[in-house]
Amino acid sequence: MVGDTIAAVATAIGEGGIGIVRVSGPDAKEVIKKVFLPRYGSSVDSWTSHTLHLGHVIHPDDGHVIDEVLCAWMAGPRSFTTEDVVEFHCHGGSVPVRETLNAVLRAGVRLAEPGEFARRAFLGGRLDLAQAEAIIGIIRSKTRDGLGAAVSQLEGQLSRRISKVRNEILAVLAHLEALIDFPEEDLPDITPERLSKDVQSISTEIQRLLDRSQTGRVLQEGWRTVIAGRPNVGKSSLLNALLDEQRAIVTDIPGTTRDAIEEFIEIGGIPLRLVDTAGIRETEDLVEKIGVEKTREYMEKADLVLYVLDGSDGLSNDDEELLRSLQDRPSVVLVNKSDLTVRRLDEEQLQSVVGDKPVIFMSAKEGWGLEELAAQIRRLVYKNEAGSVLSGMDPNESRLDLITQARHREALERAQSHVLSVKSGLEMALSPDFLTIDLKAAWEALGEIIGETVGEDILDKIFSSFCIGK
Ligand code: GDP
Ligand code: ZN
Repeated sequence: MVGDTIAAVATAIGEGGIGIVRVSGPDAKEVIKKVFLPRYGSSVDSWTSHTLHLGHVIHPDDGHVIDEVLCAWMAGPRSFTTEDVVEFHCHGGSVPVRETLNAVLRAGVRLAEPGEFARRAFLGGRLDLAQAEAIIGIIRSKTRDGLGAAVSQLEGQLSRRISKVRNEILAVLAHLEALIDFPEEDLPDITPERLSKDVQSISTEIQRLLDRSQTGRVLQEGWRTVIAGRPNVGKSSLLNALLDEQRAIVTDIPGTTRDAIEEFIEIGGIPLRLVDTAGIRETEDLVEKIGVEKTREYMEKADLVLYVLDGSDGLSNDDEELLRSLQDRPSVVLVNKSDLTVRRLDEEQLQSVVGDKPVIFMSAKEGWGLEELAAQIRRLVYKNEAGSVLSGMDPNESRLDLITQARHREALERAQSHVLSVKSGLEMALSPDFLTIDLKAAWEALGEIIGETVGEDILDKIFSSFCIGK
């Protein structure tokens, strides 16, 4: 089908328990014969598929032993790539893995391009494009929820939903084409009302996926989060409490400068990218140092604002002004230092300023209130689904067909704009010929998501972003 045989190291480079060299293609069996000496006699020709064999990798030129390995044999088409696949599980050091790869290449196969195994899985019909992209999503996921979304995408949740909408589009197309070919009197079932209703339901379904793409983006990329508040209210203490309690994954993101450090924390399964925490730490007081105006700018650029107040102190004019500017922005108001018996904060006044924004009483010092914060953040992230069918569902269930890739979102937006053109065309009683053009375009745009209607250039772009060996 695809042709030649490819090989690559499939595990991370460096020291580890095992390192795997993966081979795929018609010559996989030949490779085993040339570089593998089984401990227990039998030749690969007598092996059952999907079995492991202990033995040695040897160099094909002079037969010298390279490493003791387990050789996994998976005959096509029931393999990842749908081709014959062999994996050598070596000891996990860079030299045994590299030398094993060299032996395999010497046996006459080619080094794989990045993503070439996944590309073959796609071309072999083992995965559609959205599923292949899910593999990268799984590898790069940052939290439990992000992983969940990627795994269900790999299992085909999203693909099935896209296919269903495409089939509905095809059904409408068939009706429109019937109207082109036959006089309307002969087709009493195909009324304009019926067509409008079908198109509306297609549009609703696409919109539902688009609405949830925001959630998918958050899970994939993290929410840009600003912790704001006056000096001494406890912003640094909150940050430290979050970092401690939530088993922080503290990373320096490559490409950012040293003075604009961003930190990732996972809270309630949601990744937060804390913006300019370095600033908070060094100056110890965002508002005082940079002023109300600048703070407002920071908050406007954030996806999520955690606004911290000191419960033992009253609301200042700055607090009021900043809180009012939050309006519809996803945000949580935290009344910190609630462990203190002194309580000068007027709750009624606070409620009148923040409206129905969530307010949480907490203590960064004693570490309570953080679970409620986590629950509130989950609620804000999954808010888009609140009005839909999913309301009342466990947020753990609602991640199933989230749109996590910008590519998918863009294709859905194009599909939606074509569907909306069809809808207004029906209202204006345009000729069916016109309508079919837009409907076909919508069908194709959706097909790009699962890879049924994409060109080589898009495939190149997607698979080259994979690592080698995937
Ligand atoms: P920031 O300037 O907003 O970053 O505030 P800090 O986190 O540096 O805290 C200022 C002071 O408030 C420190 O002395 C903290 O120990 C204290 N503090 C912070 N959180 C709490 C809390 O929940 N309860 C009490 N009682 N004190 C706190
Ligand atoms: Zn501070």
